[in-house]
Amino acid sequence: MYNILNDAFKKRYAVPQFNTNGMIWMESILKTAKKCRAPVIVGTTDKIVDQLGGFRLLAQTFRLMKEELNVTVPAVLHLDHGQAVERCFEAVDAGYDSVMYDGSKLSIEDNVENTKRVVEYAHRNGVTVEAEVGSVGGTEDGVYSDMLYADLNECIQLVQETSIDSLAPALGSVHGKYKGEPNLGFKEMEKLRFTLDIPFVLHGASGISDEELEKTISYGHAKINYNTELNIAWSNALRKNLMENPELHNPMEVLQPSKDALNQTIEKVIKRTGAYQQA
Ligand SMILES: [Zn+2]
Repeated sequence: MYNILNDAFKKRYAVPQFNTNGMIWMESILKTAKKCRAPVIVGTTDKIVDQLGGFRLLAQTFRLMKEELNVTVPAVLHLDHGQAVERCFEAVDAGYDSVMYDGSKLSIEDNVENTKRVVEYAHRNGVTVEAEVGSVGGTEDGVYSDMLYADLNECIQLVQETSIDSLAPALGSVHGKYKGEPNLGFKEMEKLRFTLDIPFVLHGASGISDEELEKTISYGHAKINYNTELNIAWSNALRKNLMENPELHNPMEVLQPSKDALNQTIEKVIKRTGAYQQA
């Protein structure tokens, strides 16, 4: 992950993180990244890990799938919004390439303290760490959060005291669908960019315009997380197929249009973030 993020950071493009909701997602992300010769990040939220069989199953499936599909572009597995220090340890032990520790709901002191523990363990095992300050709004994993702009001094404190590899400063983005227009804090981004020489991560990118996306990348966002956009494309295609063909029951036929929709959306996003043909 370190190399993936730093290459993007230097060359001013962003690597998309796509969250997986199962084998179909993982396969689609890896195949499309290979086709587009793009580096890619597969994310698993804390909750989905349990729903899909646990850290070890996911890490080994990911590794084997890369082998079976002969994926040679850089593709890494990342724990998204790890809710506890121990969960991050579990992911490291299982073979994840990268973890996010999300202590954004804690005081900055506790966030720093816990993030430090994760960094120490992860770095010892060659795993990178992302951390968050402020709060990305909206609903993720069924948990609702109010949007809270990151405090710039807290961002600086977290980066300087913990040796994290990337920072997710919440600056107006939202998980899930935006209610009204997104209101990203570009002034804050600019200030932060002048102060910190570290790749930033944008959460909740589904629904952000191309122009805003370009701006966030110019301010050093090297990892951009997508989930909702994929899931909308997936479910719309599934709904349409079943409505138009009510007699369908063969799972492969039921699911094919959704798989195609996933592939197309992933390719679109890879082109949008500039990751296309960067591998
Ligand atoms: Zn997120």
